[in-house]
Amino acid sequence: MSDQEVPNTAPDVAPDGDADTADRSDLMEKVVGLCKRRGFIFQSAEIYGGFRSTYDYGPLGVNLLRNVKNAWWEAMVQCRDDVVGLDASILSPPAVWEASGHLSNFSDPLVDCMKCHQRWREDKIEGVCPSCGSTEFTEPRAFNLMFKTHAGPIEDEGAVAYLRPETAQGMFINFANVLQTTRKKPPFGIAQVGKSFRNEITPQNFVFRTREFEQMEMEYFVPPAEAQTWFEYWLAERFNWYLRLGIPESEIRLRHHEASELAHYAAGVADVEFLFPWGWDELEGIANRSDFDLKAHGEASGEKLEYYDQTANERYVPHVIEPAAGATRTMMAFLLSAYSEDEVGGESRTLLKLHPKLAPYQVGVLPLSKKETLEPLARSVLAMLQPHFMCDYDTTQSIGKRYRRQDEVGTPWCVTIDFDSLEDGAVTVRDRDTTEQVRIPIDGLLAELRRRMDEA
Ligand code: ATP
Repeated sequence: MSDQEVPNTAPDVAPDGDADTADRSDLMEKVVGLCKRRGFIFQSAEIYGGFRSTYDYGPLGVNLLRNVKNAWWEAMVQCRDDVVGLDASILSPPAVWEASGHLSNFSDPLVDCMKCHQRWREDKIEGVCPSCGSTEFTEPRAFNLMFKTHAGPIEDEGAVAYLRPETAQGMFINFANVLQTTRKKPPFGIAQVGKSFRNEITPQNFVFRTREFEQMEMEYFVPPAEAQTWFEYWLAERFNWYLRLGIPESEIRLRHHEASELAHYAAGVADVEFLFPWGWDELEGIANRSDFDLKAHGEASGEKLEYYDQTANERYVPHVIEPAAGATRTMMAFLLSAYSEDEVGGESRTLLKLHPKLAPYQVGVLPLSKKETLEPLARSVLAMLQPHFMCDYDTTQSIGKRYRRQDEVGTPWCVTIDFDSLEDGAVTVRDRDTTEQVRIPIDGLLAELRRRMDEA
C-alpha cells in the first residue's frame, strides 16, 4: 500500500436517519458477489494480487456499461437537435487546468491520525479516526487530485501534462470550434462521454469511487437571462431519465445545495442522489455555472469565447448549465436497484430487473436439447436476432437452469427452440419478470421482440 492509500473501510457519508438501509445491508455484498461470479466486474490485475481502486469490466459488465452510456447519448444527443457530441483528449497541458482553477483548487484536505498513522479526508471522518477511534490528527494539508505525468521523453517542468479529472473542460476549450463548425446558437449543448481520473484519497464502495472512472457530461450554453429556466429544465430532464430506465421514485431524489455549499461562481447546484446501501449519495450533479468557464478560458487564452447575436446585434458570453453524471457509478446504481430475489415454483431465484435497454443481453436463445436436429433452426433464429439485439446462445444444462442463469444477469426474454418448432415454425418466448411463456411464430418473432422493447 502506498502512503496515500488507506483501507477501504471509511464511511463515505453518514447514513441518513430516514433511509431504510437496514434491509439493504447485505445488498452490496450480494451485488458485488454477483458481479464477480457472472463476469460483470473484476478486480484489476487480480492475478498479481489486484491493483487497488481499479476494476475491469467483464463480458457482461462491458455490455451493461455500454448500454448505460448509449441510453445517455440517445437521450442527450441523438434525440435532440440542440446538442452535439465531442470526444476530447484525455491528456492536456497545465494551461487548461490553470485557467479552470483545478491546479489551485481541485484538492481534498488530508489529515493523518496521530495514533495509528492512517491518512484520511478530513471532511469525511467526523472528527474520529474510522480505524482506531482516535480524535487527534495532524493539521489538514491540501492534496491535489489530478494525475500528473510527462508528455515526451524528458521529464522536466516543460513536459508536464495532466490526465483530465473531468470531461467538461474539453467542451469549454472547443466552444469556438463547435460554434463555427456546427452553426449552432445558444441555447445549445456539447456532450461527451469518457474516462476521467482522480487520485482519490479514499476510493471505496466498489466502483462508486475509483481513481479511474467514466463520466457523461453536457455543457449547455444559454443566453444569460435564460440560465435559471434552463437549469430547472435540465433538473427535470435528468431526474426523469433515471426514472424512465427503471429506478423507482423511492430510491432517487434531488437535493438542492445550500448557498454555503456553492462555489463562488455557481448560481445553483442540485444533485441527483440514489439510495445506496450506505445511505443517500450522489449520482449526478447539475449546476448553473454562470459564465465562469468561458470567461476564464477566454481571458487565459486570449481567444474570444463569446456568441454574436446578429438579430439583436449584441455580443455575450453564454452562461452554462452542466448536468455531470458518472457512468460507472450510475451502472452500479442500476445494478443495486435491479437486484431482486423471489420464488418460482417453490424455488428461490435471483434476478436483475434491469430495463431491457440496459440488460447485458436482451435475448437468450436456448435450444431445448443439444441434439443436432435443433441446432440449425436455433442458429438461424440467433442469426436473425443478432443484428437487432445482444443475444446469448446457451445450450448447456437443463432449460430450468438456463432460465435461472439468464434471470440472474437480467436477460428480459428467453427464446426456446424445441422439437415442435421443427413442425410448427414457432418458438416459446419467456418473460424474465413474470416467467410467462407464449408461443410465437418465428416469422413474427423479431417484430414481437421489437414491440416489447419499444414498450419497455
Ligand atoms: P464526489 O463528491 O462524490 O467526489 P463530485 O461532486 O466531485 O463527486 P463531480 O465533479 O460533480 O463529482 O463529477 C460528476 C459525477 O462524476 C459525479 O456525480 C459522479 O457520478 C462521478 N464521479 C466523480 N468522481 C468519481 C469517482 N472518483 N469515481 C466514480 N465516479 C465519480
